[in-house]
Amino acid sequence: MPLVKTYGIVLRYANFSETSRMVTLFTPGMGRISAAAKGCRRPKSPLFNGCELYTFGEYILRENRDRYLMTQVSVVESFYALRNNLDTLTCASQIREVAEVMLTEGQPRPQLFVLTARCLAALCQEENDPWMISLYYQMQALQLEGLFPQIDRCCECGAPLEESPWYSCQAGGALCPICRLRYADAHTVLPGTLASMRLLLGADLERVRILRLSKQIRPQLEELWRETLFHQLEQSFGAVEFVHKLRDHVYHPVGALDRKKDPRA
Ligand SMILES: [Zn+2]
Repeated sequence: MPLVKTYGIVLRYANFSETSRMVTLFTPGMGRISAAAKGCRRPKSPLFNGCELYTFGEYILRENRDRYLMTQVSVVESFYALRNNLDTLTCASQIREVAEVMLTEGQPRPQLFVLTARCLAALCQEENDPWMISLYYQMQALQLEGLFPQIDRCCECGAPLEESPWYSCQAGGALCPICRLRYADAHTVLPGTLASMRLLLGADLERVRILRLSKQIRPQLEELWRETLFHQLEQSFGAVEFVHKLRDHVYHPVGALDRKKDPRA
């Protein structure tokens, strides 16, 4: 039975028997895989630290007819600080859920893996605004999948955008005043909202840490992005269940984080 050595991030787990766990790992080279970690819940188990949610480790797995058994783990980063407050934990959940929808078994996702690890690390740093990090992650992830909306010109006819552009999730982005007539969900947005989306999409994570959005822009961007994310994931992955879960339990409105964390915004 061959051994596989891979980096991985724990996306979820399910306990079985008294002491064991089935762990879902996000790996750069194999996408999402499940591995049985026998005895990992015993405090003295060598697998104990490597089977917690969000743990980034180097795993050695034994492969047996498409099933994996975890035999060793060396923890690279536990991302323990994610648990220090509810906001960072909520945003980490958003990242995890979005990553999970995009992953399929056996399909390599090295860029998404690096993005995920970097954003989880950024969430652990107290000075960062967790909502901005999560938003950045979601936008970059959609971009990697080719699902980011067209916001530089009209996504239907390619015309340049007006001062107050229209936007439609169904159309897949910004619209000119003529094309918007064809979409019932089209609505106008502040020019700064699309500009902020462009800025976040093109920015490096280092820049996102110091980025501040205005009080006007931030709620609109949050709402616009939420619509877009749900629409794209539902359309592209049939992730209806995910969307309901994220909408109801995980995806907190920005206001809740805003008031508490960032009076400057
Ligand atoms: Zn148009």
